Amino acid sequence: MKITFCGAARQVTGSMHLLELESGYRVLIDCGLDYEQQREFHRGAKVNFPFMPSSIDLMILTHAHIDHSGNIPTLVRQGFEGKILCTPPTAELTGSLLLDSLKIMEMEMRKKEANRKKGKKGNNQGSIYGYRDLTEALERMITLPFDKDFEVNEFLSIRFQEAGHILGAASVKMTIQEKGKQRVVGFTGDLGNYSSKLMKDPTPFEGIDYLITESTYGGRVHAAKRTPEEELMHYIDETCVKQPGRLVIPAFSVGRTQAIIFALNELYQQGRLPAIKFFVDSPLAIRTTDTYAKYSEYMNEESQQFMHRYGSLFDFEYLEYISDKRDSEKVQDHYEPCVIISAAGMVEGGRIQEHVRNNIRNTYCTILIAGFCAEGTLGHRLLSGQGHVHINGKEFPVFSKVEKTDAFSAHPDHAGLKQFIEASGGKNLKGIFLVHGEEASMLSLASDLELNDYKNVFVPEKLEQFEVM
Ligand SMILES: [Zn+2]
Repeated sequence: MKITFCGAARQVTGSMHLLELESGYRVLIDCGLDYEQQREFHRGAKVNFPFMPSSIDLMILTHAHIDHSGNIPTLVRQGFEGKILCTPPTAELTGSLLLDSLKIMEMEMRKKEANRKKGKKGNNQGSIYGYRDLTEALERMITLPFDKDFEVNEFLSIRFQEAGHILGAASVKMTIQEKGKQRVVGFTGDLGNYSSKLMKDPTPFEGIDYLITESTYGGRVHAAKRTPEEELMHYIDETCVKQPGRLVIPAFSVGRTQAIIFALNELYQQGRLPAIKFFVDSPLAIRTTDTYAKYSEYMNEESQQFMHRYGSLFDFEYLEYISDKRDSEKVQDHYEPCVIISAAGMVEGGRIQEHVRNNIRNTYCTILIAGFCAEGTLGHRLLSGQGHVHINGKEFPVFSKVEKTDAFSAHPDHAGLKQFIEASGGKNLKGIFLVHGEEASMLSLASDLELNDYKNVFVPEKLEQFEVM
């Protein structure tokens, strides 16, 4: 069998890996957008797959995040006719995320069309895919539970297991029979952090020969000294109690937002929250929160007990969800101290960009970055301490405070990754492939493993192919 690393190779985002069996059967694992592509994608740039979409027999989707799922409708549009295997929450969350992505794309198209009519430059490309492709992609999904073997054919069976990370996120174990031999490959998808809010710990693989693992936080240590609740309390105190300020938290709509709301709800039930407004300004986050509530059995024990006791994980007196764009603008007229949680997490696009733009010159404001920000994003520029930043082509001085917390990280750090690799076979593995990380992070993890006598650690280049025997 052969594995080709079509994406997320020496890069975070763009997860896409092709498994080709001797029989000619071809499986695509994840079909995500990479970060650079995402920008152009919404402007209608053509997607070129490094394979014929019609030649793929089956797709496996590890979780809903757009850097794992965003190219699925395009894959369908360009000729893929197979089924897509994923867990039930992943199917539902992917539907919400892809719909959101399509709406952004259409909005960009309308803007371009308006500019074209005004005689401004720009070509007249249409959307990359439409509602029909999206609906078809969702109809192709076959949902499987965790921890049950699913026989695809006589050569291949697959099994999903808990990855942590976000609701329904799966690691996938693939058992392949070829030339009278059995080979087992484990692909982590994105792993969750150990002891995270809401999600269970990732389950390590048993009995695998090869491991393909994410390495987002290779070489890095989660520095949070406080629990997620204490971390939030600290910034709420500093920003909204000791001074009349606004705490602005950019957070991914799927996963991070729910973990933050749950931590706030715990603080509320303990009587520790000040009586100020907590706005969640993201229609996608609202839909996602409903899905989390629907599949509460996928969450950890702590969350289930809390739900049993208080009836809801994601609702408390001071919390206000904002769906309508006009209400979003009204948040700016709320002159009392408040907390604003909005997407996108890397502060690239979405309503958060407006909240950051409106508050960046406010010395009473703190922007609290709660997740990974890829290089080139506004979140990354803010974190690098620039005195001025460009937002939508306009320059703004940075007078607000910019802080960072790892307390809500949805990925394991260096030690967590090593723990997972060790528990999944460690030095007995025939090969360990590192994916989904920036090059420096991957090389740092690889050299640490090699120093500890691990053999056969690979950091594949994009489109590199490995023959796996
Ligand atoms: Zn993810």
